[in-house]
Amino acid sequence: TAGQRTAQQPAAKDATRNATPNAAGGVCGTLDTLLVEERVFRPLPRVMAEATVNPQDAAHARRRAEQDWLGFWEEAADELQWFRKWETVLDDAEPPFYRWFAGARCNIVHNALDRHIETVNKNRLALIWEGEPGDTRKLTYFELYREVNRFANVLRGMGVRKGDMVLIYMPSLPETAIAMLATVKIGAIHSVVFAGFSSGGLADRIVDARPRIIVTVDGFYRNGRVIALKPLVDDAISHCRRAAQDRGEASADAGIEQVVVVHRAHLDVAMKDGRDHWWHDVMLHQPSEALTEVMDATDPLFVLYTSGTTGKPKGIVHSHGGYMVGVHRTLNWVFDLKPTDIFWCTADPGWITGHSYAIYGPLMAGTTTLLYEGHPLYPEAGRLWSMVERWGVTILYTVPTLIRMLMRFGTQYPARHDLTTLRLLGTVGEPISPEAWVWFHKNIGRGQCPLLDTWWQTETGMIMIAPLPVSLLKPGSVTRPMPGIEADVVDAKGNSLPPRTGGYLVIKRPWPAMMNTVFNDRQAYESMYWSQFPGWYFPGDVARKDDDGYIWIQGRADDVIMIAGHRVGTAELEAALASHPAVAECGVIGVPDDIRGEVAKAFVVLHDDVPPIGGFVQAEDLESELMEHVRRELGPVAVLRGVEFRTQLPKNRSGKIMRRILRAEELGEDTGDTSTLEEEPFYLR
Ligand code: ATP
Ligand code: MG
Repeated sequence: TAGQRTAQQPAAKDATRNATPNAAGGVCGTLDTLLVEERVFRPLPRVMAEATVNPQDAAHARRRAEQDWLGFWEEAADELQWFRKWETVLDDAEPPFYRWFAGARCNIVHNALDRHIETVNKNRLALIWEGEPGDTRKLTYFELYREVNRFANVLRGMGVRKGDMVLIYMPSLPETAIAMLATVKIGAIHSVVFAGFSSGGLADRIVDARPRIIVTVDGFYRNGRVIALKPLVDDAISHCRRAAQDRGEASADAGIEQVVVVHRAHLDVAMKDGRDHWWHDVMLHQPSEALTEVMDATDPLFVLYTSGTTGKPKGIVHSHGGYMVGVHRTLNWVFDLKPTDIFWCTADPGWITGHSYAIYGPLMAGTTTLLYEGHPLYPEAGRLWSMVERWGVTILYTVPTLIRMLMRFGTQYPARHDLTTLRLLGTVGEPISPEAWVWFHKNIGRGQCPLLDTWWQTETGMIMIAPLPVSLLKPGSVTRPMPGIEADVVDAKGNSLPPRTGGYLVIKRPWPAMMNTVFNDRQAYESMYWSQFPGWYFPGDVARKDDDGYIWIQGRADDVIMIAGHRVGTAELEAALASHPAVAECGVIGVPDDIRGEVAKAFVVLHDDVPPIGGFVQAEDLESELMEHVRRELGPVAVLRGVEFRTQLPKNRSGKIMRRILRAEELGEDTGDTSTLEEEPFYLR
């Protein structure tokens, strides 16, 4: 993987993919700005009145963070409980292996659970869960605490110790949260694998993470069907065993000593004697108290694989102290939590957003988090809206792919439900086009809920660039770095770029929830993230600032397209296409061209109400209309050489468009690592 990422280095990439790397004005590695989005949304008086962090506070925090950056984060750390305080806020003796809150002792589960039992939070709802068939469960903090303790005792009884790995292969269930928290409570490390992965994807992660225990489920409900999961665990284990045998290594069950199976879907699954246990059996008679392991702040907390949009997934390691501080602070500031909130982050626990903002963040804040097991369109496209109404959801945090999908169903579904409890909306994961932003803001947020577009990564652990509820919002912009975060846009040599010139997004200082390393691969950590711009973190994205210092993500550095000497990010071309009423979804890639070096080609999924191509709409007519539309929106540089109509786009299992697959298919090249490619869109399955 290190080699793969090396190819992404700004200079190397320019040299390999583009014949004339510096054609754009002579500055190395810069991008053109094509999209001009002028709509702005000011916070309404209601939002101003109820905000915990008002504009003066935010300005003060920014000044404070600039003047005394470590003091700023130390204050954030003081909002949580520690068994022993740090010797130093940041140990930077060995960059880029930064050690936040070195010398401190803590456990994130103490902050997410244990401490609430001593307060008024004890009897508040920690978790509301809704199964796809409509069954529901609610757990107060005290109830969740006891369940976690019981499962912690189970794990201890199975011999799991501090530093051991527990793999959790489950959909969104209360037991998923319980298993994660119990693992961490006893000092072990979890690796949650998204239940949408097949046995092959699971096997890869078993080989890399080397867990001793797997927690899984017989099956779960998805789009009206039962998806069996336990058999996939058996397949994955046999696969690993065979692979080990081929290497001449003896391995009974690939190092997996125990498998705990939650009974969810009444499936009659095979259970291997001595290895496999039912959750309800092992939980029986367990004491409901368990000691919380005292951890070093820098001890590993979990390993989580990236979504694999741009290459082979990387095992990202996070640790207790920094992660809990970063997640706690950002959740409180961006989503301004109140005791009465019902917080719904629709991300699956198998992704970082689910870790940080569906489980750890809301629990640390003492708020109520809502989890949903199933398909967002089951039994019909109003499922999400009926859930918002049923539970009185106040904050909804979701992803652009889902917003785009819900837009296709128009406003009739949201119109049938009372969405007036909503007060804040959020999005993360991909650039959201201004069109989708405005649709969501207007039709779901009634034009009254700030829509917070948050930029961050598995690697960053926490939200990095995002507005606060009181910020002035511009559709399509992630606004400004959070106070305490120093982000910039630079050229390939690391020079800061002026407004309206795109370039590489960099983070110039460490931040508390930063990854510690790539699992089992310190060298990859250095070369993938810290070698392009020595001393700075390079996330792999391109962006530009506007005259107000607002940041606009232009796409992935890997996907930058060279059109007639101009370098262009995919996000702007895609946003322009998305503003055409016929376009439901699109992906744009660069393809080599003998004369021009490279040209842009678009892949478009049409709205359902557009008559089928070959019917009365002529593909050529629509193609030229779309090309003309993009040129009108973005100016003469934005020349598309071809539009291909598709019924779906290749996406990964978290719903992100995979342009590298489109490019490889187009060029007849090897598609590389496709383990994260969704064979069938998960949402439609
Ligand atoms: P891989 O690293 O394996 O290719 P991935 O980058 O999709 O997968 P994640 O950590 O899930 O893995 O996603 C982080 C990326 O998602 C960011 O680098 C960025 O490209 C994109 N992203 C996240 N939030 C936003 C946002 N608000 N706007 C634009 N892009 C975003
Ligand atoms: Mg990434």
